[in-house]
Amino acid sequence: MEYIRTEASGQLVFEKATDYLCIPSCLYGFKNERTTTETAQSGRRVICFRGTLAIEEEDRMCKCGTRMHINAHSDITLRHLCFGGNLSCVLFPHNRFKCPACGATKSQFISFKAMGHRMTEELYQYTKDLLAHGTYTNKQVAEITGLGKNVVKDIDKQRLQELYTVGGKGLIKPEKTTRILGIDEFKLHNGRKYATHIIDMETGHILWIANGKKKQVVYDFIDHVGLEWMDSVEAVACDMNSDFQEAFEERCPHIQPVFDHFHLIKNFNDKVVSEVRKDEQRRLYEGGDIEAAKALKKTRYILMSKRSTLQKKDLDAEAGRVIHHGSPLFGTADVVRKSGYEEKYDALLRENTLLFTLDLIKEKLDDAYKDTDEARMAEKIIDIMDICEATGNRHLLWFRNLLDKHFEGIIAHATFQITSGKVEGINQKIKTLRRHGYGYPDDEYFFLKLFDASRRDYDRNPKSHRFCD
Ligand SMILES: [Zn+2]
Repeated sequence: MEYIRTEASGQLVFEKATDYLCIPSCLYGFKNERTTTETAQSGRRVICFRGTLAIEEEDRMCKCGTRMHINAHSDITLRHLCFGGNLSCVLFPHNRFKCPACGATKSQFISFKAMGHRMTEELYQYTKDLLAHGTYTNKQVAEITGLGKNVVKDIDKQRLQELYTVGGKGLIKPEKTTRILGIDEFKLHNGRKYATHIIDMETGHILWIANGKKKQVVYDFIDHVGLEWMDSVEAVACDMNSDFQEAFEERCPHIQPVFDHFHLIKNFNDKVVSEVRKDEQRRLYEGGDIEAAKALKKTRYILMSKRSTLQKKDLDAEAGRVIHHGSPLFGTADVVRKSGYEEKYDALLRENTLLFTLDLIKEKLDDAYKDTDEARMAEKIIDIMDICEATGNRHLLWFRNLLDKHFEGIIAHATFQITSGKVEGINQKIKTLRRHGYGYPDDEYFFLKLFDASRRDYDRNPKSHRFCD
């Protein structure tokens, strides 16, 4: 005798009345009369609970005080919880009432129907719980629950609006005050539009997120939190290539802008290292040294990296072997350990004085940003400015002016010691969420997703912090 029957496809078979269980439910007023199984379009089995919904006398009363008649009843199907791999639904006739006195009509009230959705409150809650867990992507939640991807997105958006907005409109006020804010812009899905986020640098929480990268974002944020809240803010970390700090200073003159290491290095890499490399390449091509020019073309990554990063990459580093090399500008005495990436780096530097200078500046910036004394840090930055000037190179002169123009905000770092970990963490989340397809086409949903992500398991990738300390 076969106790467990399976179809040719290997699926378990439900056939007889004894195959079914009576299980408790929250489907108040619903009477399950028979249960059938059907196959959904996706090929998954659907357990259909068929029956009737009791009519409450109260529900039947018209506003005018007359008892209403049942006018029509069309079957309604509500998606319900899944049982293992099987989906389920509840089916019953849904009555429409009509008042014989005044002619008013209405539908029978279903207490267990999720508002605005063709599903039971239980399935709605379960979907919400899966989403709140944060482990699953929307696509995975759709697969588990058997709901459509858009339905899952709608539920998630509702969930986030309940958590982080006031009545679905404005964002909630910050949970607590902070000493240091961070502001940064990021590209939206199509790569052309920008948005800006303002974060609490102590907790990493996003406090404000809006389209655009103009001063208006800052004004709106200050209006949102109020001047009293802004009183506890001492500093704001930002990129020097924005006018955010001006907007903060206009409204709250007590706030000290701080230009962090992360953004400074980004400027240095994008505007100096890249450009110097291009110039060098051109020079080599024009001088007929095609091989050297080609070699330089492949060195973008190496030039952008820090020596310590390259050292980490050289797993089979050969300890102890040192070489000395000199530079016409700065004399000898640079002692380096060599192998793999680092070796290429050093070879590049040896061939090119200017590239060596870039390396030196990067090391000196690292050192300056570790300092906790403003006067000492100021000396180190001035030293870097002098080196830039001595080269006479137009890109380095540009960098010198950048340092000069933002001097106060740079050396303020010695006092505020802003680590780039929090900013990096947010950037990482933006990338992850965009990859999961949340970025398109609903910006509001994307912003709420980010808002939520910043309040949860911030340290998903603690390695990246060490990377950029
Ligand atoms: Zn009536």
